[in-house]
Amino acid sequence: MSQQFVISQFPYKTLSNGQKMPAIGLGTFGSDHVPHEKVAEAVGFAIKAGYRHIDCASVYRNEKEIGAVIKSLIDEGAVRREDLWITSKLWNDMHGDGQVIESCRQTLDDLQLEYLDLYLVHWPFPNYHAPGCDVNARNPDARPYIHENYMKTWRQMEELVNRGWVRNIGTSNMTIPKMKRLLRDCAIRPAANEMELHPHFQQPELFSYLTGEGIQPIGYSPIGSPNRPERDRTPEDTSDMEDPVIVDIARRMNVHPAAVCLKWSVQLGAIPIPFSVNPKNILANLRAVSENPLSDEDMEAIAGIDRNCRLIKGQVFLWKEGQSWEDLWDLNGEITPP
Ligand code: NDP
Repeated sequence: MSQQFVISQFPYKTLSNGQKMPAIGLGTFGSDHVPHEKVAEAVGFAIKAGYRHIDCASVYRNEKEIGAVIKSLIDEGAVRREDLWITSKLWNDMHGDGQVIESCRQTLDDLQLEYLDLYLVHWPFPNYHAPGCDVNARNPDARPYIHENYMKTWRQMEELVNRGWVRNIGTSNMTIPKMKRLLRDCAIRPAANEMELHPHFQQPELFSYLTGEGIQPIGYSPIGSPNRPERDRTPEDTSDMEDPVIVDIARRMNVHPAAVCLKWSVQLGAIPIPFSVNPKNILANLRAVSENPLSDEDMEAIAGIDRNCRLIKGQVFLWKEGQSWEDLWDLNGEITPP
């Protein structure tokens, strides 16, 4: 994997605080089926190819392998630390007193970095599950969202900024009502929110709420997570890349449907973080957002194919009394349960 690829039009987004964030990142969640070394190798290939943004998380359990690759690229002068944007996330089992600091320290050590560009609270709940458990399993200790507890976690996130361990803090899998409370009570505002975002799941209200508040949306599963494991699929799930509108645009532009999904995401104003361990796809995804944008008509056509199809439902985080995965997402506009 030594191919060098120079992107002349590499896109960046400017955050509300003036910092520039690379407008595409490489996802690193290999689920249970992609070995950690393979993901780390893909990170190395991507950085050499021109990617400057890597989306990590402690729960992906591959930060050590990724850290070794990043360090060797910096040591050999292939990239400078200041040109990289490295995100990581706090896992649900580390929301307690002092644990946020401890967890961030571990991530910094594993990634062999002195600071992170962005550290996210992965989910707004401290609920977690055994890796690979059945999707219908419930952890008896799981609790609904408790704002006071979330703020205790957030105060530690703020402390990380004050210590200089992280440049920005943010959220993930948030809803509008939860975000409103956070914005009311925080000392340091979230710079970004990571959310599921692809043509069949556009979340327009959340998206415009975030941008209106100056919070950068980062889009996960941006091409509809086509290779996710069977346990994360339901019969109602649809496939963005098979949508006739996406297929038609792809044909006309002579690109893969994945490229259309990524162009749409960036042009909407999001930062997609596609996962791939295939060099050809890694390059194609970078190219997709760097050249030949979609026309206004194509953007409009894609706006019309939203199916409100959430793929990552999060049901394993549900508490005992929770009725269904919808309870995690505050669909009636208020935090559930009130
Ligand atoms: P994606 O939509 O990124 O789909 C990834 C899959 O698409 C891979 O299996 C990849 O296979 C394939 N693929 C990638 N590029 C192409 C292409 N050009 N043509 C054809 N196939 C392609 O879904 P993910 O669910 O993986 O999400 C991406 C990232 O988002 C994760 O890795 C993670 O970093 C983050 N994430 C964050 C969450 C959160 O809670 N904050 C939740 C879920 C994900 P191949 O390797 O063969 O290219």
